Amino acid sequence: MIIPTEPIGSIPRPPELIEAVEKGAISDPATHELYREATKETIERFEETGSPVITDGEQRKYDNFWTYSVHGLPNTAADGFAIPFAAGHIRRMPRLTSGPFRYKRYADAYLEVAARYATRPLKQAVISPSALSLMYPPDEILGYPRAAFLDDLLREHETEIRRCFAKGAVKVQVDFTEGRLAMKIDPTGNLLTSFIDLNNLALARFSAADRQRIGFHTCPGGDRDSTHSADVDYAELLPSLFELKAGNFYIALAGERDRGRVLRIIKRYMKPDQRVFVGVIATIDPHIETPEEVSERVLEAAAHIPLVQLGTTDDCGFAPFSDDMSTSRDTAFAKIRARVLGTQLAAKRLAG
Ligand SMILES: [Zn+2]
Repeated sequence: MIIPTEPIGSIPRPPELIEAVEKGAISDPATHELYREATKETIERFEETGSPVITDGEQRKYDNFWTYSVHGLPNTAADGFAIPFAAGHIRRMPRLTSGPFRYKRYADAYLEVAARYATRPLKQAVISPSALSLMYPPDEILGYPRAAFLDDLLREHETEIRRCFAKGAVKVQVDFTEGRLAMKIDPTGNLLTSFIDLNNLALARFSAADRQRIGFHTCPGGDRDSTHSADVDYAELLPSLFELKAGNFYIALAGERDRGRVLRIIKRYMKPDQRVFVGVIATIDPHIETPEEVSERVLEAAAHIPLVQLGTTDDCGFAPFSDDMSTSRDTAFAKIRARVLGTQLAAKRLAG
């Protein structure tokens, strides 16, 4: 028996790469070489962990998982939507100043480089339409109504996913960290509902077979060992989350205070054609899990989720923002190895 296991995406960047980027040398050929080396080394180390599905560690997603596709667009300003983290720092996204809205780059460009070095199946994470929808300002842009923006956004997102599949991605994961955050911003649930509706409009553009290869990642955020919405009860989010017409869900769980309660909510609301990859690695906890600890978490989940619908993952990326040095590469790979071994151990126990 095999329980599928997949990473979320990001791995901390090598310190020399972070240093070069901080100096502002992003377009320097020397930095380009650092990016290429970081991708190659990340993939080699990922494969050494035994993870059956790998990523490029998002080494080249500058500056982060949220704005990589729009970074550097001329029709934006820096004072966009703000995400406050519990540790006290704030991450901001660009604000759209005029239409039309186009991506500056698609994530399949990262896959193209990764495919040169990978021997195992690659998955690719992309940002959700709902996250990017926050770029549109509260007041309508003159001559570019919100509806026109959403049309452009959905088309760009669809294009990005199709390009990732065309480049050989075995799965495409849509990062939806703002789902849980939405309940904090708007406790009435209206914002979350609008996010689910928008993402379902995107999913409706794909065939049922494609949607079985598309997944959504939810988490309370993971930056500088801190979160943005861990205080929001999962019970506020999960019933709506499973309304998404996607085949896979990557749900942060290891870092939750009451995992049993979350698992009972998942069991109640997940649909028969949906697979849940539960987080068995607490990415912002410096403690490196043992395979035994991971196995216990898998068995706990298997008590609630049918085995044919169960998978495991990490709670989040290990460095969703490229300058995050709170976790070392060694720690990230050690945790991934524990995920792989612990998931295998649990499968063996469940088969026996
Ligand atoms: Zn996450």
